[in-house]
Formats: sequence, C-alpha cells, structure tokens
Amino acid sequence: MPPANRHNPVRAKSSQSLYSLHEFLREFPDDEACLTWLWRERHSPDGENAYCPKCETERRFKRYRTKQQRQSWTCTACGHHIHPTAGTIFAKSSRPLTDWFYVMYLVSSSRCGIAAKQVERELGCNYKTAWRMLNRVRNELMQQDDAPLGGEGVPVEADEMFHGGRTRESERRALRAQGIGNRGPATKPRPVVFGAVERGGRIRASVVGMSRNAQTMRDTLCEFVLPKSMVFTDDWCGYDPLTNTGRYTHRRFATPSASTSVATYILRPSKASSGTSRRTCAGRTTPSPSGSSTPTSTNGSGSGIVATTTKRCSGNCLTAQRALTSARL
Ligand SMILES: [Zn+2]
Repeated sequence: MPPANRHNPVRAKSSQSLYSLHEFLREFPDDEACLTWLWRERHSPDGENAYCPKCETERRFKRYRTKQQRQSWTCTACGHHIHPTAGTIFAKSSRPLTDWFYVMYLVSSSRCGIAAKQVERELGCNYKTAWRMLNRVRNELMQQDDAPLGGEGVPVEADEMFHGGRTRESERRALRAQGIGNRGPATKPRPVVFGAVERGGRIRASVVGMSRNAQTMRDTLCEFVLPKSMVFTDDWCGYDPLTNTGRYTHRRFATPSASTSVATYILRPSKASSGTSRRTCAGRTTPSPSGSSTPTSTNGSGSGIVATTTKRCSGNCLTAQRALTSARL
C-alpha cells in the first residue's frame, strides 16, 4: 500500500465528516474563489453568460478589474453591472467573504453549535461582528420553508424519531422503581420529531408531541406533503393507512434493523449517511460503491437524503456545501 500523500489529505471513509476542513479550504481558498462561486451559483452556471435585466435577455458578461471593493460582472452589450453579493447576507459587510464562508462551514459542521466567542477568537474580529455574522447565518440561512413538499410523482421520505438520547440504564432503574416497565422507545418521555425530506432539497420537521401517535403522524404528513407525491416511509404499522387512502403513492423502506430508519438519515445523518450499505425498497441490502447516502427506490430515483437536505436539523446533517447553496437569498 503506497504511503498517504500528506500534501493532499483525503477524508477517511470511516470519518463522520461529510465535508472536511481540507475540502473546504481547497474549494474556497480566498475571496476570489468565494465570489466566483457566488456568481456561478446565483447568476451564471457557466461563468460567462447570464440574464441581463436591462437587455432582458441572456448576455455575455465580463469581469473588469476595478479598485472598488465591491466587485461586479459587466454586461458586454449594455454595461449593466451585476454584483454577486447584492441581496445576500454578505452585502455591505466589512468582513471578507472567506470569513462568512468559514462561519457557515463552522455552523454546518458542528454538532453542538458554535458560540460567537469562538468565532471572535478564530476570525480575530470583535464580539459584536462575530455575533452579527452568526446571527445572520442562523436566522437567514437556516429558516424553514413552510411551503408543502412534493407534488405529483415527487419522492418524499418521511419518518419520526424520539429526540433526547437513548434511555440510560440509570433511567431505566428509576422508571422500574416507579413501576414503569420497558415500553420500547416510549419508555423515556421524549419529544417526538416528525420530518419529511423531498428528494431534491427541502425538508420540513417539527415536534409533534410526547408520544408517537399514528394519527398525528399521518396528519402532519398530510400537512407537510402535497397529494399525489410518492411517499417513502419505514415499515411501522402507523403508516399502513397511507397505502389505502389514495392521497399518496406509498412506498416502504424495509429496514434491516430498527436503528436504521429514515430518521437516522434525517436527524442523525453523519454516520448513517456514510454507511457502507444502501437500503432498497425490496428489502435487500446492497453494498454501496461510495460512502454516500443513496437509499434507492423501486422507481430508480433514489437520492441521498442528507445530500439533498438544505435545512440544518441537528449536528452536521448539512454539509457546508449545502449551507453555502442556501446563501442564495
Ligand atoms: Zn445588458
């Protein structure tokens, strides 16, 4: 086995990371790379042609070097300027784009959240600036979209989970002392979170109470997902009526074990998403060629839930890449 190249570190397959610091630094080494990324993401996928609002058609844009801090691309036909940072959280900021991108990376890669004091120390800015940057990243990039998910034939995956950690043995003992036996996941009173993920990018999740009530789950699903969507759930019997209502095309993930539910991908995705196996609706478990999360479906439209998630649920379920995509305000 050849020795690893220390100048080109590669993310280990066993790593829980979905997007390492090395990958981030390689992709966004300086302000120029960040600005070009914004330009391509927001206006011009090919980096050259973009829609000119003044000409009202697609035009070729060129970058002219100026001494201005606010860099822009210029329409070669009419001279209209497009500023990639206009209308985003980066507009009129005195901090470099690399700082903003790094804060987004920190927020999206941390499991426990980031303190403004840490940002202050890492960026060398004052506390007020650090707080403001964090506040804008959290409140403006992480807002949940209340629009319903799916649509005719659009695959949406849904599941619920108990939030609050496993029941510890000491807690079991305390419950047994009170005469409360083992009731499975409901043994310990914990809030139940229901989430639905649209393959393609959006997620909706909310706390639905302190117990897993099947009717509540189905009602929440109907609230989150448009009729005629293709809904994927696990094999919990609470979702059985979905098959007969005719509101959705209902498909099931046959889970090899209780610990690998869709919720594992939605709310605890870091390890699950980089698992070495992929689940199929037919109940087979096939080896995954890459470490990516790609639950497949019978219609062949499988896509990774985590890879398509744009909202941060907890921990590092959102790659920095996706957080940066959300910057398109
Ligand atoms: Zn123009």
